Amino acid sequence: MNITNELINEIRNKIDIVEIVSNYVPLTQRGKNYFGVCPFHDDHSPSMSVSREKQIYTCFSCGATGNVFTFVSEYEHINFYEAVKLLGNKIGYNLGISKVTKSSEDKSLEIYDSACKFYQNNLNTALGKNAYEYLEKRKIDKETIKKFKIGLSLSKVSLTDYLLNKKVSLKELISLGISNENGSDLFINRIIFPLYDLQGNVVAFSGRIYNTKDSSKYINTKETKIFKKGNLLYNYHQAKDILKKSESIIVMEGFMDVIRASTIGIDNCVATMGTAFTKQHANLLRKMTDNIVLCFDGDEAGAEATTSAIEILKEINVTPKVIRLEENLDPDEYILKYGAASFKAKINNTESAIEFLMKLHRSNKNLKDLNDVSKYIDESLKELINTNDEILVELTLKKMVAEFNIEYDTLKKKYDFLIKEKNKENKRDNVYEVKPKTKYDKYSKAARTLIHYMIKNQSIIDLVESKITYFKEDEIRILSNEIIYYYHKYGIFNIADFISYISNKDEILKTFNEIINMDLKEKYSKEEIEDYIKVINSYPINKKTDELNQKLKEEKDPIKQAKILSEILILKGVKQ
Ligand SMILES: [Zn+2]
Repeated sequence: MNITNELINEIRNKIDIVEIVSNYVPLTQRGKNYFGVCPFHDDHSPSMSVSREKQIYTCFSCGATGNVFTFVSEYEHINFYEAVKLLGNKIGYNLGISKVTKSSEDKSLEIYDSACKFYQNNLNTALGKNAYEYLEKRKIDKETIKKFKIGLSLSKVSLTDYLLNKKVSLKELISLGISNENGSDLFINRIIFPLYDLQGNVVAFSGRIYNTKDSSKYINTKETKIFKKGNLLYNYHQAKDILKKSESIIVMEGFMDVIRASTIGIDNCVATMGTAFTKQHANLLRKMTDNIVLCFDGDEAGAEATTSAIEILKEINVTPKVIRLEENLDPDEYILKYGAASFKAKINNTESAIEFLMKLHRSNKNLKDLNDVSKYIDESLKELINTNDEILVELTLKKMVAEFNIEYDTLKKKYDFLIKEKNKENKRDNVYEVKPKTKYDKYSKAARTLIHYMIKNQSIIDLVESKITYFKEDEIRILSNEIIYYYHKYGIFNIADFISYISNKDEILKTFNEIINMDLKEKYSKEEIEDYIKVINSYPINKKTDELNQKLKEEKDPIKQAKILSEILILKGVKQ
C-alpha cells in the first residue's frame, strides 16, 4: 500500500493521540487537556499537554510539539513514515511492505547490511573453520553466533572489492569506516561483531583477533554519521522486545558481556559501547523500565563508572541497583570462570545504589578513627536523602546507630535537616528552568503572530494570500505558502494533519511548532490583524529607505544628495 497524505490523515483520524501517548507516558486530565511528564527533555514536573480536541501534544518547557505520528517517531527513534506504518498496522492496515523513498541513511544501512552478510558468510566457509573452532572454544555456540550475527573478515577475500562491485563508491566506504584510503579492508583476519543501532540495524563493527598477534585485541569502526556511540546501547533492540515493564534491564560495559550473558539464557542485557554512560543512555533505559541494574567491570574503573552512572540516573529520578564482581572480572570473564549459577545468584542478590555507595565511602576510611566515622556518616546520610524508600532509610539509620553507638534521634535529626536543605535547593532550581525566548524584530513578530492566527482562523489564510506581498524570513515565507497550498488542496486546515504534511521539512516544522506554541490571546480584532499586515508589508519600503538614508549620510555631492532625498520622499509616498 502506498502511503499517501490522504492515507496518513485517514489513519490519524482513526487514532486518538491521548490513548497512544498514555501508552508511553502516564497522563492526568486537567480541564480540557491531559498532562504528563515530557519524555523529550529532562522533565521533573508534567510539562507536556496533550489535546484531544486538536490531536496534538505540546511541551511548554522544551517546545516539543507535534501529532501522534511525530510523538511515536521521536519516542521510538524511528522516522515519520515508520511511525505511520507502526500505528497504521496496529489498527488493521497492512502497511508492512510499503517502501519509503530511500534517504542517504537508508543507503548506508543497506551497505552495512551487505557487509554484515558478507562477514557472516565467510565464517561459514572452509576458510572460517579456525575462527569457528576458536568461538566454540570460547563457548560461543552456533545459536549465539546466529543471534548476534557474528562473522569473520579474511585476508583472501576483500569486502571492499565486493562492495565496489555492488556500485558503492570507495569514498562512501571510507566515510562509513569500512575501507581504508588505499582501498583495502579495515578489518582483516578478525572475528567480526556487528554493532547495532536502536532499531537493530548494523551500523558498525568490532573486530577481534583470533589467530594472529596484534597490539590491539579489538578494533572498532570510527564514529560515522550512522554510528554515534553516546546514543547507542548494544542489544537495545533485542532487549526492548523481550522486556516486560516490571522486569529489570542489566547494563554492562562491553558487547562481549552481553553476548556471554545470552549464552547462559540471560537476555535482558545491554551495553554501552566503549564510552562513558551518558544522559541519552539513561533516557533510553528509562523508556524501557525503571528497574535498572548496573553490572560494570569489577575493577576500580568499573566502580567509578558505576558511581557516575548512578549520578546520571539520579538526575532523571531513577535509582538503579548494582552488581559488583570480584577479582576485577568483567561479566564475560566472571561467567566463564564461575559459571551460570554463580552469576544468576548475583542477579538475584543485587545491592541498592545506596549500599554500593556507602560501601565505597567505607572502603577508603579507617572506622576506628572518630573523624573518619563522622565523615562516613555524613557521606552516607547525603546518599540516603536521595532515596524515597522509607524502609531502606530507617533500616540504614538503625544499622548505623548499632554500629557506631549513636542516638537514633541525633541521626534522624541530621537526616531531616539534609532533606529540608535538598528540597529548598530543588525549589530554587525550578525557578530558573524558564527558557530564554528568542528575540525577534517587529516584522518577524508580526509575521509569526499573523501565522498563529492564520492557523486558528481560516478566513485569515485568505487575507494573507491576498494582502501580504512579502515575508522577509525564508522559513516564514515557505511556511505561509505551504499553509495556503494545503488549505486550497483540502479545503480545510487541520493542525494535526498539517504536521504530517510537513513532517519531512525540518526547517519549517520547527518554526511551525514555535508558532503554535506562542502564548497569544484567543481573541483578536480585525484592526489588529490589519496592523500586522501593514507592518509586514512596510518591510521592503523601510529597508530601501534605510539603505538610502545611509547612502545620503555618506554622500558629499549636494546634487546627488538631492536626488537621493527625492527618492526617499517618493518611497515614503510624500512625493509622486
Ligand atoms: Zn519537553
